[in-house]
Amino acid sequence: MNPNNRAVESVERRTIRLPAVLAFGSNLGDREATILAAVDELRATEGVEVTAMSRLYETTAVKPDGIDLDAPSYLNAVAAIRTSLHPDELLTVVNRIENDHGRVRAERWGDRTLDVDIITFASVELDTERLTLPHPRAAVRDFVLVPWLEIEPDAVLPGHGRIDALLARIPETTLRPYAGEPR
Ligand code: ATP
Ligand code: MG
Ligand code: MG
Repeated sequence: MNPNNRAVESVERRTIRLPAVLAFGSNLGDREATILAAVDELRATEGVEVTAMSRLYETTAVKPDGIDLDAPSYLNAVAAIRTSLHPDELLTVVNRIENDHGRVRAERWGDRTLDVDIITFASVELDTERLTLPHPRAAVRDFVLVPWLEIEPDAVLPGHGRIDALLARIPETTLRPYAGEPR
């Protein structure tokens, strides 16, 4: 084999995988089964490796007007992944998984079977029509920071600092560990 071809082949074989953090939320249907299925679907996605998964947490729904005690409560979790996908491709993957689980977008922060948000993608900071990184509301969301801290205690939210410090700034929480449905 021509030495140049060999060099090209070895470059092609080397796949760069970058770390990313994903947040899951569900407040309709079998919330636990949906989030666990979504994680399995990510594991089965070419170019995505799930490296850590938090426990599930339960929290009261938040609507644009504030906490909504009448809405079904949420289960939330966070996963750490490594991926060779481009951020845009990763968004397409998570949107497909949401759609496969019957996600409907009718109103802002409306009830949903599944939400999967990209919280960070390496240290990328970008703001396009389709994708903002890091996720613009992650810094003030206990339902993102608590599960994330559980799997990555030293994590930093690019542009905002350490997540333990961000969490310490959030005064009130309805977040509680999820013990499973009474069966
Ligand atoms: P929030 O973004 O406040 O958590 P949401 O998750 O309910 O609200 P969605 O309806 O899931 O909002 O998404 C609205 C749009 O946000 C999507 O069309 C998507 O393209 C865009 N978006 C921008 N940045 C991100 C990101 N980091 N992760 C996921 N979606 C994003
Ligand atoms: Mg969201
Ligand atoms: Mg979303």
